[in-house]
Amino acid sequence: MTPSPDKPKFSGKEALALHRRHAWQPFTQMKLTPDPYVIGRAEGVYLYTTEGKSIIDAVGSWWVNVFGHNHPRINNALEAQLHKLEHVMYAGFTHEEALELGGRLSAASGHALPRVFFSDNGSTAVEIGLKMAFQYFVNQGRTEKKEFLTLENGYHGDTIGTMSVGARSVFHEMYLPLLFDVRQARAPFSPASNRGDRKRESESLEEALADLKSVLERYGERICGFILEPLIQGAGGMNIYPALYLKEARRLCDEYEVFLIADEVFVGCGRTGTFFAFEQAEVWPDIMALSKGLAAGYLPFAATTATEKIFQGFYSDDRKHTLFHGHSMTANPLGCAVANAALDLFESENFLEKTRVLEREHEKRLMKLREGKLGARISETRFLGTVGVVELDLKQDYTGDFGWKFWRGCLERGVLLRPIGPVIYLTPPYGISGEELDTVYGVLEETALAVLD
Ligand SMILES: *Cc1c(COP(=O)(O)O)cnc(C)c1O
Repeated sequence: MTPSPDKPKFSGKEALALHRRHAWQPFTQMKLTPDPYVIGRAEGVYLYTTEGKSIIDAVGSWWVNVFGHNHPRINNALEAQLHKLEHVMYAGFTHEEALELGGRLSAASGHALPRVFFSDNGSTAVEIGLKMAFQYFVNQGRTEKKEFLTLENGYHGDTIGTMSVGARSVFHEMYLPLLFDVRQARAPFSPASNRGDRKRESESLEEALADLKSVLERYGERICGFILEPLIQGAGGMNIYPALYLKEARRLCDEYEVFLIADEVFVGCGRTGTFFAFEQAEVWPDIMALSKGLAAGYLPFAATTATEKIFQGFYSDDRKHTLFHGHSMTANPLGCAVANAALDLFESENFLEKTRVLEREHEKRLMKLREGKLGARISETRFLGTVGVVELDLKQDYTGDFGWKFWRGCLERGVLLRPIGPVIYLTPPYGISGEELDTVYGVLEETALAVLD
């Protein structure tokens, strides 16, 4: 029997003792971090600690939760699948949920990306895309095309390969000796201080495109793939840039025979107001990585989709042309069933419309925030789809550890917000109500003022 959520398995003291003795958490200096909250259950946008405290999940639990927690239709789909088939190896076998999901993901791109390779997390989905781009050319005997081009400031995951194509940030500089070299192009947005200034913004876009062109001119013959996060660079600071960049990047990649790899792990599945962020550019990439919201934030699940052309580069009588990649839990039926249920929700409950409503709700509240007491400390606000961003100007007179004081301060006030340096962002479940958003923005303002005081 499962324990009743109202009767915690451990007392507060026991839970902390176990945590302190055994836990090792991601991106966490275990010696310096305060004790965690123990979450016992969740519902909609709310997390509940085992001691009964409620917390609004304004970041969708690290950007994965798109429909809210404990969603009845997702729960039902998961449970139904559980009683049918929990897992089977995905070589020599397939199953109904993988068959259905492959067809539906292909249809979501108008069949521009009809080939679907399943895996189980975002970093892996990206690495698979890198291997596809690289090996496509190797299979053709074009071994000179073995380099990758990336965008400055990008983030693609924490494995060795994805760190290599990501920015050499403080997160990853430790591992520098393990990483392979990549080419880098300038990011298509201006520094926060210039944003809102249309002239400077369009200059930045033009400069980024000129830089991309010149890198491709010089090194295009050696480059197999250009990887980027479409429309929003997430972990790099929630930087939003125009779809025009993607459109031009598509054209340049075609010109230099470079595969365009879209890392839609964060921006996919409705996050930016369209199902895929790339739709806003009205062109398609050659390869796309999806995870996070793909299985509604319920299960570790991912997919890498590709064009038929790329697939045909591996489809051969020569066994050496096989894509040598796989994971034990590839195409897990529970993950596939949840992803199919998530697609049902997009279709039947019009979640895409909700993402566009949310965009307007962010816009209103961000404007109010700029006009309020915190306004003087804000260097920029920005938004796209379900993502709202407040960038603070901390350089002048603040030296303390803002991010983590703010994070804890908000939690004490019942809201989960976890800034990236001076960048406070909201990535809530798409169905968050106006009232809940008011609470989140209110706590954001109050806590930022308290910490900055
Ligand atoms: C989160 C993220 C990843 C990594 O996904 P994991 O599932 O955490 O490995 C890759 N790319 C982008 C753009 C992300 O936001």
